[in-house]
Formats: sequence, C-alpha cells, structure tokens
Amino acid sequence: MCAKKKTEDAKPAAGKGASGVDYNNPYESMLARFNAAADILKINDRERAILSVPEKVVNVNLPVVMDDGTTQVFEGYRVIHSTAMGPSKGGIRYAMEVHADEVKALAAWMTWKCAVVNIPYGGGKGGIKCNSRALSVDEKERLTRAYAASMSEVFGPDLDIPAPDMGTDGNVMAWIVDEYSKMNNNKYIPAVITGKPLLLGGSKGRTAATGRSVMTTCIQAMEKLKMDPKKSTVAVQGFGNVGSYGALLLEEKGLKVVAISDHKGAYYSPKGFNIKRIFEKYDLRNTIDTWIDKEDKDAKRIDNKAILELDVDVLAPCAIENVITTENAHKIKAKLIVEGANGPTAADADEIIHKQGIMVVPDIVANAGGVTVSYFEWVQNRRGHYYTEEEVNDRADRIIKEAFEAVYQMSKDKKVGMRLAAYLVAVQRVAEAVHLKGKY
Ligand code: GLU
Repeated sequence: MCAKKKTEDAKPAAGKGASGVDYNNPYESMLARFNAAADILKINDRERAILSVPEKVVNVNLPVVMDDGTTQVFEGYRVIHSTAMGPSKGGIRYAMEVHADEVKALAAWMTWKCAVVNIPYGGGKGGIKCNSRALSVDEKERLTRAYAASMSEVFGPDLDIPAPDMGTDGNVMAWIVDEYSKMNNNKYIPAVITGKPLLLGGSKGRTAATGRSVMTTCIQAMEKLKMDPKKSTVAVQGFGNVGSYGALLLEEKGLKVVAISDHKGAYYSPKGFNIKRIFEKYDLRNTIDTWIDKEDKDAKRIDNKAILELDVDVLAPCAIENVITTENAHKIKAKLIVEGANGPTAADADEIIHKQGIMVVPDIVANAGGVTVSYFEWVQNRRGHYYTEEEVNDRADRIIKEAFEAVYQMSKDKKVGMRLAAYLVAVQRVAEAVHLKGKY
C-alpha cells in the first residue's frame, strides 16, 4: 500500500510526460520502451537509428462505390517496420481510429512480437480508416479488393504477409488472397496471407490461437505467482476474437470470469458468467448485452472503464490500445495483468503498475499465439501439408511457453519488469539481425 501512495503522489498528468514524450501517441509509447531496452542493451547508434523508424510507409486513398451509388474515399495504410528477421508480418485493421502513428506503432510491435517468440519474420501492419460494422458485405468486399490491388507490389509470401486484426476476419482474408492471385496471373498464392478460412488454406487452430496464448501465458504467470486458477477471478475487457476465446479458455482452466465487456458496455457478475454458453449464443454482429439482458439476471451493467478497476485476481485487457494510463493505473487491484490487446498500457503507466507489484504479461508475449499459428499456416501453405489441430496447438504452446520463460528469466536476471524484459529479449535479437546483415 505504501508503494501505491508514493506512486499516486508522483503521478504525472496523462499525456505529455516530463520527458516531452506524448504517451497518448502509441508510436511514442513504443519508442519509449524500445529506447529503454536499447539503453540497457547498449545498442549502437546505427542499429538504434534503423529500428527507430519504419522501413516503409505506404498511404493510399481508395475510392469505393457505396451501395447507394455514391463514392466514398477511404484512407488506407501499410507500414513495414522491419524486415531484419524475415518478411514483414502483421494484421490489417479496419477501424475509425486508424491513423499513421497507430499503424506505425502496431507494425513495430509486430517486429518485437515475432522476435520474442523467435519466428522468422519482421513486423508490419495495415489499416483502413472505416467503420467496419457500418459497411455492407458488398461495400466491405469492394473496399478490401481496392486495398489489396493497391498493395499488390507490397504484399508477397516472401515480402509482406498480412493477417486479420480488429475489424477484419477470414472473409476479408479470402477476398485479399483472391485479388492478389488474380493480379498474379490467377496463380493461387495462399501463403501471401494468413488467417484464411480453412477451405482456402487456413490453419486449424488459427481462430482461437491468440486467446489461447492469453490463457497459456496467464496460467504460466499464475504458477510463478503461486496463484490457484480454480480459486481466482478474472475480468476480460473486449469480447472480439481475442477476448472471447481468452475468456472461454480461462474458464476451461477453472478461473471464474466475473466481468466481460464489448464496445457497447461492460457487465459484472460476482458469481461468474457461463462463458461457454455466451460463446455458443453470441453472434459477433450483436453485442453481449442482447444476450446478457435476456439470460443472466445476476449480471449488472458497469461502466466500461470500471472493468479495469474491479477487485479481481487477473485482468485481461483484450480490446484496444491505451486503456491503462496514468489516470487509472494506480486504481488497478488485480495481481496479474495479461495483455490480450496490442498496447493496452501507455508507456508512462508501466512504472506505476510495476511499483504496485503487479505482474504484467506484456502484449508481445500474451497475444503472440495468433502470429505463431499464422507462421504455421504459411509453412503449411508452402509445404502443401496440413497439421491436425492438436499438432498446431502443441507446437504453438511450446513456442509461447518458451518465450514466456525466456522473458521471465530475463526479468529475474536484469531485475526489471516483464515488459522491459520482453523488449530486451526482442530488441537484442532484431538488433543482432540488423548487425549481421551488414552495411551498404
Ligand atoms: N493481428 C494479429 C496480431 O496483432 C496477428 C498478426 C498475424 O497473424 O500476422 O498479432
């Protein structure tokens, strides 16, 4: 409690910190952590300069004919942060919040994520500024095909391999692989994109993979903290692909899921939700409230921010960036935070959380299951040989567990928190790859 008081007193105003860094900007948050790791690792100026900026930023404006006959122009991005470790890898996001610095940060996080799990990829990310829920299926298809056509020189199985992210799914991946193949003489090139539907060369286990690594790393962290899953409660923010599978798999491990939320609202039920039932009934076009209001009389609606401050053992933010900031970090009561989302914690909130003795499984470890199984999908596409779900899960669990252990060891060796430890593992590998490739 003593540490908590101290951090409250020392709490800087949210936003620009004393260092002049704008922590509301995800790219600056990413850079602050990269620099902290680079300082400890004594990365030389050349590698530091190369990795501080993206290799390539592509910005397109896409005119799309809407269902009512009008034309709307959409802003699209693809950012390649680094190809030092291999072709760039990372999802495509459809959201109104998409902007250049967000995509740049997300691309860099993919570089660190692929490095921390040691798969042979660099990092990239794409995005289109749009309200994906408001688009009809036809509009979404036209927008996606326009984007894929504009990126035909950027994407490629040995160049840049996209995947789903917020607001996109297997259907969007199917349109992209189809458009890309058409632009390549109709040669079917499934390895250009991952997260495809199974019938088009997708991998078993891919859909659940990100939520699965949230679960596996959460259980590993609980073992370290000597917490019993069967006696622990968890609040899961976000019920998209990551949060829904994360909650389901944590429930299977015996945790009581007492709070869930989506973009419409949050719910709290001290006796715990039946995630399996919600999961079976929940339709991603609806919101959880349509189900809960009807079927769960014990659940009460709470503020979407309050879900982060509940008296729970584990908190799993699985929605968007920057939800844990200097404004609310000192109010978090969970002993363990498992970051299913990319960048849910602003960099200036790290220290506050660390001082409270809360363990964090950082995003680049906790949600790395998705890109790990994407890697298996790419390998399977190239070999033309497909794994069973069990094989995929076993291989992914092994990689994720190893990454967690490496990060945990690093945090013990260097006496730093898990986030900085994850950056130390990742930045060391990528900087070494840049060094090995030499100069020109
Ligand atoms: N969008 C996911 C992520 O942020 C998956 C990326 C991929 O599979 O390439 O990790």
